[in-house]
Amino acid sequence: MTRYPFVDLRLANKPLETELKAATAAVIESGRYLHGEQTALLEEEIANLCEAKHCLATSNGLDALRLILRAYIEMRVMQPGDKVIVPADTYIASVLAITDNRLEPSFIDIDPVTMNLDSNLLESLITPRVKAIMPVHLYGTPCCDNTMLDVARRYGLKIIEDNAQAIGAKAALNGINGTRTTGGLGDAAGISFYPTKNLGALGDAGAVVTNDDDLAATVRALANYGSDRRYHNIYCGLNCRIDEIQAAMLRVKLRHLPQENKRRQAIAAAYNEAITNPLVATPAIIDNMRQVWHQYVIRCTRRDRLRTFLHDNGIGTDIHYATPPHLQPCYSQYSDLELPQTVLLASTAVSLPIAYPIKPDDARAIAAVINRFS
Ligand SMILES: *Cc1c(COP(=O)(O)O)cnc(C)c1O
Repeated sequence: MTRYPFVDLRLANKPLETELKAATAAVIESGRYLHGEQTALLEEEIANLCEAKHCLATSNGLDALRLILRAYIEMRVMQPGDKVIVPADTYIASVLAITDNRLEPSFIDIDPVTMNLDSNLLESLITPRVKAIMPVHLYGTPCCDNTMLDVARRYGLKIIEDNAQAIGAKAALNGINGTRTTGGLGDAAGISFYPTKNLGALGDAGAVVTNDDDLAATVRALANYGSDRRYHNIYCGLNCRIDEIQAAMLRVKLRHLPQENKRRQAIAAAYNEAITNPLVATPAIIDNMRQVWHQYVIRCTRRDRLRTFLHDNGIGTDIHYATPPHLQPCYSQYSDLELPQTVLLASTAVSLPIAYPIKPDDARAIAAVINRFS
C-alpha cells in the first residue's frame, strides 16, 4: 500500500475546495469567460509577486516562453537561426519554445551543487549568433548570479527566465540591496501554472512577466491573434489566452502560496537533516536564496534499486528528468554533445514526495526508510 503517494492533486486541492467552488460559481454567473476581471486581477497580482511591471496570463507555460521568443523576433532583437543558451538539464518545454521559433538551443551543462546551469561555462558558448540566455530555476532553486548577469551585460544578451518551477523564490545579487524575486530577475520570464506546480491551476495556464513595455505589448498582441486592437492584426499571431475559470482558481490558490512555499521549505529542511545514508546525496540548501522546492531531488548511484525499495515501503517517487532533451529522439542532432553533469544527474536523480499533504514528520519517516537502504 502506498502510504506516501508522490503527488495526489485531489488531496492537494481538498483544503481549498469550498473557495474554489465559490470562485467557479462566480465566473459562471459573470457570463465572462475570457479577458475578464479575474484575468486582469491575476495579472496584477502575479506582476506584484514577481516585482515586475507587466504580467500577461497565457494558456500554459510553454506558450509563455514561445511568446517571449516570438516577440523578440518580431521586435528584431533576434532572428531565426540565432542561438539561446539553455541548461541541458531541464524539462523539454524550455527547449521546445526555442526550436518552435526556429531558434537554436545552445546546451550548457549544469553545476552539480545547484543543479542549475553552470555560469562559469557561459563565456565558452558565446558566438555572434547567441542572443539570449534562458536560465531555468530548476526544482525551485533560483538560477541567477553575478557571473551570468555580467556575461549578459557584456555581450548584450537577453535573460529569459524559465520560472515554471520557482514562483515566489528569491535570489540575492551583488549590487542590489536585499533580494529579488524570480520572474523579475531578467528581461522576461515564463511561468507555468500546470496543476502540479507550486501555484497550480485546475487545468492549463501560464504567464509572461516583464519590465519591458514594448515586449509586453508585443506579447499581448501575439497572444491575441496578433491584434493590437479589435479586427486589426499587426502580426500573424496565435491564440494563447487563459480561461477566466483558471484565473479565478489561481487567484484563490495565490493567497495560499506563501504558506505552501514555507511548507515545502520545512519539508526540505527535515529531509536534509534526517537523511544520513552515505549512499544518498541530498540537495543543497543555498545561503542567500529562498528556494521554493518544486521538487526535492536526491541523488543515488543505485537509483533504480532505491526506487524499488521505497516503492515496496509505500513511498512514491519520480524522476526529473530521466532523459535530458538533447538525448530525446526529436533532438537527435544534439545527441553527441558532451554534457557530463547533466547525464550524471539524469541517471542518479530521485524526486521524493513533497507536495501537500506531506508534513515534516512524514519527511522524517521517509528519511528513516531511506537510511535503511543499502
Ligand atoms: C512545467 C514546465 C514548463 C511548461 O509548462 P506547461 O504549463 O506545462 O506548458 C516549462 N519549463 C519547465 C522547467 C517546467 O517545469
